[in-house]
Amino acid sequence: MRTQVGIVGAGPAGLLLSHLLALRGVDSVVVETRSRAYCEARQRAGVLEDGSVRLLRESGLAGRLDRQGLEHGGIYLQFAGERHHIDFRALTGGRTVTVYAQTEIVKDLIAQRLADGAAVHFDVSDTEVDRLTSDRPVLCYTDADGTRQEITCDAIAGCDGFHGICRPAMPAEVLTVWEREYPYAWLGILADVPPSTDELIYAHHRNGFALHSLRGPAVSRLYLQVDPAERVGDWPDQRIWDELARRFELPGWELKQGPVMDKGITPMRSFVSAPMRYGRLFLAGDAAHIVPPTGAKGLNLAMADVAVLAPALDALLKGDERPADAYSAACLNRVWRSTHFSWWMTTMLHRTPGADEMEAELQLSQLRYVTSSRAAAMSLAENYTGYRAQPSGAGLT
Ligand SMILES: Cc1cc2nc3c(=O)[nH]c(=O)nc-3n(C[C@H](O)[C@H](O)[C@H](O)COP(=O)(O)OP(=O)(O)OC[C@H]3O[C@@H](n4cnc5c(N)ncnc54)[C@H](O)[C@@H]3O)c2cc1C
Repeated sequence: MRTQVGIVGAGPAGLLLSHLLALRGVDSVVVETRSRAYCEARQRAGVLEDGSVRLLRESGLAGRLDRQGLEHGGIYLQFAGERHHIDFRALTGGRTVTVYAQTEIVKDLIAQRLADGAAVHFDVSDTEVDRLTSDRPVLCYTDADGTRQEITCDAIAGCDGFHGICRPAMPAEVLTVWEREYPYAWLGILADVPPSTDELIYAHHRNGFALHSLRGPAVSRLYLQVDPAERVGDWPDQRIWDELARRFELPGWELKQGPVMDKGITPMRSFVSAPMRYGRLFLAGDAAHIVPPTGAKGLNLAMADVAVLAPALDALLKGDERPADAYSAACLNRVWRSTHFSWWMTTMLHRTPGADEMEAELQLSQLRYVTSSRAAAMSLAENYTGYRAQPSGAGLT
């Protein structure tokens, strides 16, 4: 078999890349180990920067997003028994974020790719990539019927997430890796109950962090900081609701409770691997970098990577190597900004197990500063809605 770009992974990065390449007339094949139903049901991110919304709109993918997405002009920060609003619109000249679940984006992308007649192969196994430094790299896999397949490509995109096979296919000596594991995890639930808030609430509490997010007018997404060693079985539904109510407690405000539809524990990690290219293999999204979800950046970074990669691959196939050569550095600039912002939000809001009272006071001081200084709040708002570097230094002297 033959294609121009072989894509490993049908997450947001792989599917969106396949679509963006098709808009440029570039042919691709996507291979995915999981089933279509599994990919469409996997609960993950839900907050889109305005740049991500614009990208989906400009590439003709925003029909449902524009009807069902919820535009948010800020977030709440809660600590020391008070809830403060950070007004993104006022702080950034009108910028917002949009709440639209990653599951819905994946559904929209799969539907569009299949309607366009694209090759998206689910339920594959034993994926391998080879001959990466040649101009004919190969992608091999066993298809759902058990037949071994080999596709000769012009380039391969590793969009196969943190546990995929593409990053390990790069020689270890060409990679530099930065990694930090946090001493806490998130217990997340999806609940069949209308949200108790109009915008996300990030709560710092002596028992640990809590986040009230949402997935639509009738569905809430809520998280609790827990020990990474905890198991979902340790947390019956009522124990979760009681702890959420404790961490969000505020006079005159009530947390609505309802049936829990999904429950899971996510470890927290910062990870960056560079470069994002080896020969004709290009990494994008979680395959190259992971951020803790506190800053709502993982999905946005994956989409930003492929927005750079699609034109770079198009140019490469037409004989211009310069955009492909610049790909890694162009993405890593944004990746490090989001990595810092996600680390900053995470360490400001979570209780570090075993930390002393001094750390707790420093966190409270930072939270008071962010909610009382326009300059500090503006920095949070600019990063949360999606930082765009000003080449000139924005008039700083
Ligand atoms: C449990 C969880 C919760 C999260 N919550 C949030 C959140 O609240 N906010 C936020 O911003 N971010 C969150 N994230 C991060 C965000 O969802 C990711 O950044 C985003 O999914 C990255 O997209 P991706 O396409 O790069 O990778 P993925 O979505 O991981 O997609 C990779 C795909 O590759 C497939 N694959 C893997 N190996 C192979 C192989 N060998 N062959 C073929 N296919 C393969 C996988 O099955 C998967 O479908 C969360 C992540 C996780 C894991």
